[in-house]
Amino acid sequence: MKKLVDNLKFAWKYSKDEKKNLIIFVISEIVGIIISIVVPILMAKVIVNFTSNKLLQVVLIMTLVYLVENIRNVVYYMNNKCMQVIYRETMVKIQYDLGKEMLKLSNKTLDNESSGVFIQRLNSDTSTMSDVFAYMIQILTDVIANIGVFIAVFIINKIMFVYLLVMIIVIYIIEKIRTEKRNELDKNFRKKSEKVSGFISEMVRGARDIKMLNSEASFLKAMKDKILDQNNARYKMSSINRKYNLLRGCVHDFFDYTLVVIMVYLVSIKSLSVASAIIIFNYSGRVSSLIYCLGNLLERSKEFNLSTDRIREILESSAFSKETFGEKHLKRVNGNFEFKNVTFSYSDEEHEVLNNLSFKVNANETVAFVGKSGAGKSTIFSLLCKMYDIESGSITIDGVDINELDKDSIRGNITIISQNPYIFNLSIKDNMRLVKEDVSDREIKKACKAACLDDFIESLPDKYDTIVGEGGVNLSGGQRQRLAIARALIQKTEIILFDEATSALDNETQAKIQEAIHNMKGEYTILIIAHRLSTVVGADRIMLVDNGKIVATGTHSELLKKNKKYKSLYENEMTK
Ligand code: ADP
Repeated sequence: MKKLVDNLKFAWKYSKDEKKNLIIFVISEIVGIIISIVVPILMAKVIVNFTSNKLLQVVLIMTLVYLVENIRNVVYYMNNKCMQVIYRETMVKIQYDLGKEMLKLSNKTLDNESSGVFIQRLNSDTSTMSDVFAYMIQILTDVIANIGVFIAVFIINKIMFVYLLVMIIVIYIIEKIRTEKRNELDKNFRKKSEKVSGFISEMVRGARDIKMLNSEASFLKAMKDKILDQNNARYKMSSINRKYNLLRGCVHDFFDYTLVVIMVYLVSIKSLSVASAIIIFNYSGRVSSLIYCLGNLLERSKEFNLSTDRIREILESSAFSKETFGEKHLKRVNGNFEFKNVTFSYSDEEHEVLNNLSFKVNANETVAFVGKSGAGKSTIFSLLCKMYDIESGSITIDGVDINELDKDSIRGNITIISQNPYIFNLSIKDNMRLVKEDVSDREIKKACKAACLDDFIESLPDKYDTIVGEGGVNLSGGQRQRLAIARALIQKTEIILFDEATSALDNETQAKIQEAIHNMKGEYTILIIAHRLSTVVGADRIMLVDNGKIVATGTHSELLKKNKKYKSLYENEMTK
């Protein structure tokens, strides 16, 4: 109960702006219930008047019934409208908040959780949370109305009241056991649903690769297994409902049967009048609907608690850790930075990826990182952008520890051009505008010229208005990288991190990318992860990374002379 109150308080934060609609909703519920009690009384009067031939009264009461029924229609309309508005407004707020918090999650959390965890909670748990107040009000007003009927039985006959009370308690216990059992299975079902959502979202994203790998059959099998698993969990949940509904139905029928037997006995010993017996018999339906309402309330509270816990887990629990930033703001950095004795591993159990790593890069220098795959080069880039927190040592930008800097000072001053940059399904122009809203056509053209892309764009039928397709599918890998370079030039961040594509680009494309980087040299601090040494011979400095350490540093010619490892790497590449 304490948990329910706590979760309701949490949900209230998102629904409290809808107080007006909630009040209208409550009023419409009450009016609806009053009408449902009044109409049968009026109809009874119609029958009495009809049988005594008072036809004018019949017409008058029927007119009243007609008016009341129309009020019920309008009330139903209002009620439904309010419920939908409350749902819409609450849902938007919760989903927005959850989406916002998801983007703050630390990369460690994102690495460990499947996308299904987030998709399911964002779509279905938020929905359960959004209509909780309308739903609870609806059930509670029903419960209150039925309690009214129950009190009426108490006034009519105490023995029958006790009998119905026993019936309520027995069926309530059955409902409580059912909802508890169902709750456990529901948790399991939601976990399985997360797995299916995660798998499907990965399959959609990787559909091209699946086709290329000709591995549709194995993916479909894996998908089928997961879907089967999910549906078995759903089946188990519904089977608990089925079994307990059967039990509840049998118990209910038993009580209905004994109700008549007891009433017959009470009438025979003159403890109950026939008229009262008929009223109690009619009311017994309402009393049992009170239990179903309570059952629904229990089930819904459990569902609500489960969904809210899952949402709060993302928002509040330490298992979903958030990124943390400092307060200090640097509007524009010069581009000097330093790693001092940095040690880092991706998880506590894993080996250290960077081990006591130290180096310094001066503003406007072009530095290349070379070394075997897995040596830790990309990790250096990630740490510079504070994608992960280091265990020991320090990283400074312009002399300030990045732990003291706010998010904009770090990420707003660094651009990463990854191996496979994501280009959005917009025109080339609009892709540029994503990083700077008010960029002029002249600036876009200048940046694309510097990125050696202008000639290609001008050859397209729609030139700068060409739509590039989702993820930039209409562009080659080299063109995507050059577009990302142009984007970086427009963004004009002082530090540019460039992860050279590993896929062998043709010589002409490679030369164009080289030229694009050359055009930026001296104006920006540029770090390049080079997979081919030949592409970085012109860098101001080259650092050879091995096993999380920088084992040599110097210009290309210096390293050729003084470092055997570098020399053999270079010679190997030349002889390929
Ligand atoms: P490089 O860029 O030199 O190829 P990386 O920095 O990408 O090397 O990787 C260094 C090591 O860290 C590798 O052993 C890699 O498997 C591991 N690694 C990289 N990214 C992650 C991650 N997100 N989670 C766990 N381990 C990772």
